[in-house]
Amino acid sequence: MAARTDQVTDPAIAAALLLARRGQAYYSRKLNELSDADFDGPSLLGDWDRRHLIAHVGLNARAITRLVEWARTGVETPMYASREQRGEEIEFSATLPTQALRNLSDHAAIHLTVEWRDLPAEAWSNEVRTGQGRIVPVSETVWMRTREVWIHAVDLGNGARFEDFPPELLDALLADILGAWDRRREAEGLPVYLLEAVDRGGRAVNTVPDATTAVTLRGTAAALVRWATGRGTDGVLTADGEPAAPAPRWL
Ligand code: ZN
Repeated sequence: MAARTDQVTDPAIAAALLLARRGQAYYSRKLNELSDADFDGPSLLGDWDRRHLIAHVGLNARAITRLVEWARTGVETPMYASREQRGEEIEFSATLPTQALRNLSDHAAIHLTVEWRDLPAEAWSNEVRTGQGRIVPVSETVWMRTREVWIHAVDLGNGARFEDFPPELLDALLADILGAWDRRREAEGLPVYLLEAVDRGGRAVNTVPDATTAVTLRGTAAALVRWATGRGTDGVLTADGEPAAPAPRWL
């Protein structure tokens, strides 16, 4: 019989799971505040309305569940068969009756958290492949889902805010995004950024400490993360007090 408590013993993964589940609860709460009619409204993502966004977040839970099952069974089950299949499934699911879309969201989230719960401690380092083709330990799926649920809660556009995010989440998001830019810097000619969080005593975040030229940007940690995730430049200023230019793409 399946256990009723997490099998994972690594305290870092246990803490990460807590943050993912808090994010799911946050996202689900904002989704539940939407009336059926609200589902037809726009999201904050320009190319997706709320139905497409809600379909995507539900299907993302299913896709991540496939990776956890892969790690548990050793039977390769990719997140998506192809980019096209992923897109078609979102298009189709977005047309579902509202209650069916709510059920997809709830059931997919529960299934994922049960798979995480029942994954044996020794299986958390088993490797799987992400949608972008990276080989990662399955423990990485926790962070993959964490950033989806928290950020897409904001994208629902009914009141969730980066300002509500826990400080450790804001820090982890910035580290993730700056790391992604570091890896693409040469190929894409990206600038080095020195980010000063004014609500953290001006503590600067910079993954290239010996850079001779850096673009300095200031804002609250929440505003810097909003900017870095491509959700607008509000509250982010240059060293001269000018509005910041939009951030490079993240993923
Ligand atoms: Zn997403």
